[in-house]
Amino acid sequence: MASNDLVERARRFIKPFRVTDGEKFRLKDIDPGDTGGIDGERKPEAKEMLQAGVELLADYQDMLYAQDRWSLLLVFQAMDAAGKDGAIKHVMSGVNPQGCQVTSFKQPGPQELDHDFLWRCNAALPERGRIGIFNRSYYEEVLVVRVHPEILEKQRLPKELVTDDIFDERCKDIRRYEKYLSRNGTVVRKFFLHVSKDEQKRRFLERLENPEKNWKFSAADVRERGHWKEYMHAYEQAIRATATEEAPWYVVPADNKWFTRLVVAAAIIDAMDSLKLHYPIVSDAQRAELAKARASLLAE
Ligand code: ATP
Ligand code: MG
Repeated sequence: MASNDLVERARRFIKPFRVTDGEKFRLKDIDPGDTGGIDGERKPEAKEMLQAGVELLADYQDMLYAQDRWSLLLVFQAMDAAGKDGAIKHVMSGVNPQGCQVTSFKQPGPQELDHDFLWRCNAALPERGRIGIFNRSYYEEVLVVRVHPEILEKQRLPKELVTDDIFDERCKDIRRYEKYLSRNGTVVRKFFLHVSKDEQKRRFLERLENPEKNWKFSAADVRERGHWKEYMHAYEQAIRATATEEAPWYVVPADNKWFTRLVVAAAIIDAMDSLKLHYPIVSDAQRAELAKARASLLAE
């Protein structure tokens, strides 16, 4: 497939899942089971598209690295077992590991709690020319912390700063922060892998029943499942407040893993294609230099 075709197809494909104007967004408008009309028979076509997409990403990443100007930040958020890890693994399978950094954010430790909430993520941002992947992120501060406000107490904020507006304020700060990043050459794309509660149950049961998957099971995940509605509300609020043209959210149907991966790959292709990447242009002086080097090697 020619890369122009692939980019065009990718653009059309991601449209229903791309959120750039938060105010209009409602989570219920996106069905976790959606497969974009690609049913059983067309699945090989999807597979081929993903393969071509992964190869194209590798080419783009090579140019991103050589050009050393832009960086790409991919933020992944989801309920447990939605397939974050698998999506990251598959979509990035073709790229050079030297140009890509994955950071997984867990509960913050003492040093992290001694700072503002963006601090640890800011320290993990990708350098120019690199792709940075956040497996969870500063968004946890308006998701898990919103669902469990007792976590706020551990953050040791001055009392008068902890008001009923704190999560709205954090969302505003995140929105501005992402604007700041994009003004500095970091392209931000955010993915919410939207799995249904039924499919999560099925995947948890599989983790319990399959000995090779037992290690993935955690009783805490089942406890969090009990807060499903509150989480969905928190996600909706966060997406509404932070979806912008320069830092869009992709709300990706996640009940079918193959489809999730396709949407994620297509969104990254779109982002990288829009940068009009190219290899650094060699100046006349540099070209003369290269010719000299070649001549001297040949003369050895
Ligand atoms: P997996 O389960 O596939 O290994 P995971 O991302 O779920 O991946 P876990 O170690 O299970 O990793 O969970 C990390 C936990 O850390 C999540 O429950 C998440 O909500 C929590 N967490 C992340 N950031 C924060 C934060 N800023 N404050 C509080 N909890 C956080
Ligand atoms: Mg987990």
